[in-house]
Amino acid sequence: MSEQIIEIGKSVVMHEMEHNTNIICIELEDGLVFVDSGRMDDIAKKFRKDMEKQFNKKSTHLFLTHYHHDHISGMSAFKDLEIVGSKTDHAKYLEDLQGTLSLESRKAQVEQWKVMAVELNWEPSKSRDLLWKYYPKVELLPPTKAVDEFELGSEKQKVVFRRVGGHTECSAYVHIPHEKIVILGDNIVGDPTKVGGCFFGGLKENIIGVYDEVAKLKPKIIIPGHGPTTDLAYMIKAGDYFKKLFQTLNEMYDKGVKPSEVSSYKGLPEFYDEKPDYWDNVLGRLYQSISSEKAIKDIDQIQVKLDQASFENDVEKLLQYYAEDFVITVSNGFYVQGVEVFKRCFRPTKFVEIKNERKDHFFLGEKFIEKISTLSTTKKSETETTTESEAVQIWVKENNDWKIQSEIRLDTKDIE
Ligand SMILES: [Zn+2]
Repeated sequence: MSEQIIEIGKSVVMHEMEHNTNIICIELEDGLVFVDSGRMDDIAKKFRKDMEKQFNKKSTHLFLTHYHHDHISGMSAFKDLEIVGSKTDHAKYLEDLQGTLSLESRKAQVEQWKVMAVELNWEPSKSRDLLWKYYPKVELLPPTKAVDEFELGSEKQKVVFRRVGGHTECSAYVHIPHEKIVILGDNIVGDPTKVGGCFFGGLKENIIGVYDEVAKLKPKIIIPGHGPTTDLAYMIKAGDYFKKLFQTLNEMYDKGVKPSEVSSYKGLPEFYDEKPDYWDNVLGRLYQSISSEKAIKDIDQIQVKLDQASFENDVEKLLQYYAEDFVITVSNGFYVQGVEVFKRCFRPTKFVEIKNERKDHFFLGEKFIEKISTLSTTKKSETETTTESEAVQIWVKENNDWKIQSEIRLDTKDIE
């Protein structure tokens, strides 16, 4: 695996290595600050030693751009230093250190992957080999300082750590004003075809806000979490593309474009660089998450109208929100199917209050599936009864309107 030590600025050196995450060293008056620690603790240890020798200074801090394993696995090489990570999601990270990121759990995960690799005939991968070698044995630590904003150094020579979100809620950038450098972690990639996995895997619409904020710092050089450095012009070009892309994906949802039609859709903007070969998968995932967010908003509005129709006992209005071939399970094996049966079975009810709460939801291709819990209070000859009921509703789009195709009624119980 090729390894490169690159002088990015007078006081900034980057360790870049194939399949590894970038490790950056910044020289300040009072000592050396490192940003991210890569996937290999021995490599991180050696880089630290080399830098201490080169600058003839001791190390003081490690900053983490976010808490993903490929950025923190080398952190034991810096365990005697102040380790700075975001306050946002810090509690979650501490929980993970006891759970999925504990040594036993990591060992077990790798053993499981090894079995899967044989059973599913996985293609060989050097990056995965590296993961299997280091992930189950490296020492992971909590940050000694969990903050969303942090500054170090003098007015002349300083580094600024600031959480901005984007790739993860805890993602932070590190700004070195006197060098006009910003370290952006997995919020950017300079070489999409080779090292874009982390970046595109975590891409969300909020990347646009992150870029707008970083652009104000007017950096000359931008250092990504993986691969070669890039610059402000490239980030702005990528940002313009993402703005157009997310706008188009939103419009596509409004037009009723099906998930299977996304990658061949003619109105998509042209990619800003050489396209990675998994780009269609990324588009599919982005479309799915946008659709799911928008569907929830649409369906919430329909739910209000549905409740209104229930208050009014208006059968015709209620039926507007059901698909043509709808089915409602009523109780053990009995069900209502279609308009005629629905009308025949309908009993007017005097509702006093209806409160819905979404317990769970899934977006499965073109269907939206949700589990909802309803608290309804009804009145019968001056006596009020509150009932709690649960149902699974399966929504489909009919002429671009969301309709309930199936409603599976689960438990119903009277509360008072
Ligand atoms: Zn990464």
